Amino acid sequence: MEWKTIEKPRRGWATVPHLLNYEQTRAAFSWEEARRALDGLPQGQGLNIAHEAVDRHAAGSRRNHLALRWLSKRGEIRDFTYGELSALTNRFANLLKNLGVGKGDRVFLLAGRIPELYISALGTLKNGSVFCPLFSAFGPEPIRQRLSLGDGKVLVTTAPLYKRKVAELRASLPGLQHVLLIGTPEETRAIPDTQDFHRLMREADDRFAIPPTDPEDLALLHFTSGTTGKPKGAMHVHQAVVAHHMTGIIALDFHPSDIYWCTADPGWVTGTSYGIIAPLTHGITSIIDEADFDAERWYNILRDQKVTVWYTAPTAVRMMMKVGAEVARKYVCDRLRFIASVGEPLNPEAVVWGQEAFGLPIHDNWWQTETGGIMIANYAAMDIRPGSMGRPLPGIEAGIVRREKDGRVEVVSEPGIEGELALRPGWPSMFRGYLHEEERYKKCFADGWYLTGDLAKRDADGYFWFVGRADDVIKSSGHLIGPFEVESALMEHPAVAEVGVIGKPDPVAGEVVKAFVSLKPGHEPSEDLRREVLGFARKRLGAVVAPKEIDFVSSVPKTRSGKIMRRLLKARELGLPEGDISTLEGET
Ligand code: AMP
Repeated sequence: MEWKTIEKPRRGWATVPHLLNYEQTRAAFSWEEARRALDGLPQGQGLNIAHEAVDRHAAGSRRNHLALRWLSKRGEIRDFTYGELSALTNRFANLLKNLGVGKGDRVFLLAGRIPELYISALGTLKNGSVFCPLFSAFGPEPIRQRLSLGDGKVLVTTAPLYKRKVAELRASLPGLQHVLLIGTPEETRAIPDTQDFHRLMREADDRFAIPPTDPEDLALLHFTSGTTGKPKGAMHVHQAVVAHHMTGIIALDFHPSDIYWCTADPGWVTGTSYGIIAPLTHGITSIIDEADFDAERWYNILRDQKVTVWYTAPTAVRMMMKVGAEVARKYVCDRLRFIASVGEPLNPEAVVWGQEAFGLPIHDNWWQTETGGIMIANYAAMDIRPGSMGRPLPGIEAGIVRREKDGRVEVVSEPGIEGELALRPGWPSMFRGYLHEEERYKKCFADGWYLTGDLAKRDADGYFWFVGRADDVIKSSGHLIGPFEVESALMEHPAVAEVGVIGKPDPVAGEVVKAFVSLKPGHEPSEDLRREVLGFARKRLGAVVAPKEIDFVSSVPKTRSGKIMRRLLKARELGLPEGDISTLEGET
């Protein structure tokens, strides 16, 4: 079906005067100019994300402006002004300093969306330490791997999460020197080798001077998944804040009086770049909801909190669509001005549904952990092509390329031809490496391009259209999942001989994780065994990463060199042609 372009009302253009013309804006743009929109540390001592996000507002006219409004699961509301946030993050920075935690040391956070997470993240950055978020729904195995790969020195978590997921791992993490527990005194008391977060915060001074920070100092470590091997630690530096700030204006249409809600969890990159940093650098108010998705709760939040800019994800939009437009119409969210979405393909129906439910289209945008910030977007001033990710932001050059066998790439210049989406390196929030994996990092680049691992097309007007992943990585409810991580965990079950894991298309979640398992001799497929293996995976990996489905198979197809042929498993699952199977083990 052909979807009509959604033309933006011309008055909308006036709200973004610097974007009157796409080509002109791009031509006039420079990152140096974008950097000038920020303060820098006093006395020219560099650039620190937390200064731009908190202290500069706390020292100015926004001191008493609401920075964060936290909505607890139980209905409690807690507000933090920029002044209060500055004092609390100072305390956390001092707390770290008092523990001997310094520049470059990794501070991991494992918590739901609670105020302490946001305070710790920004306090960590003030101290020059590196903020490393972990998704709270991860099971013990993904947590252990990331803490160990990232050389975690400090872990901030809640008492219940620690007891359930981390205590058993402690002996295998000798580098983890400090575990700070959030909870009531009753909850945190008498847990060996841990300290009480709140007690240490009370004891810490609420004045702190951010030490000189080089814009290239490491600030954030985000783990992301590949097809093979362990998760990759994408390293980001303080300078990324230039891109967070700029894209907040261009792709999210931030204005000074905005009330903004980013529904992403800070355990993933969107929840950090746009759930913590970008809105604060603009001095606007962010809503944080502790609870999980619930359509009516979300409508209530949009209406009652007078949200003006909403950044969400396709899975959530599809779940809201499922509840029906009548529910949407019960709520008058008349303050809402701009809706954006990221993380997975946003189907044209969802873009158009936005107009039915809220009178506003949904602006899809594209980026990934490695890019640190939004790269391609249907932005405020642009007409929207439903189903397209939009056009590259100013300062970003995107292309469609084909990898050649000799390692070079060929740029595909004709429109409508599928190839790999590539970006010219050089923007401030670009990752600076995969921690301890120089080779893996180098492999992402060829002929002056960063290769994203996504397949896409560009149309004649320069709009980009997502086609799929070039690799076997799975996107489920917006979360990137490495099949290898799932396979490795399942292999530890005593009955399992071999495993292949794929993403099975799903109308709501985009994809769900499905495992094909062959059993060791002496074990027979049965419903009980299936449940047991599913339970085993859930316990080790956590609900987001574990497979939702398991099929028992007599053997898992592999290449002659022993690589699992996930593509073949997927083709068989979907009833599609099997493609080239000449390398399949057993084929001649
Ligand atoms: P992550 O690094 O976890 O943020 O995942 C990044 C990946 O999510 C990208 O490489 C894409 O495969 C996918 N993705 C992100 N945004 C979009 C989008 N707007 N449309 C389609 N896929 C997207």
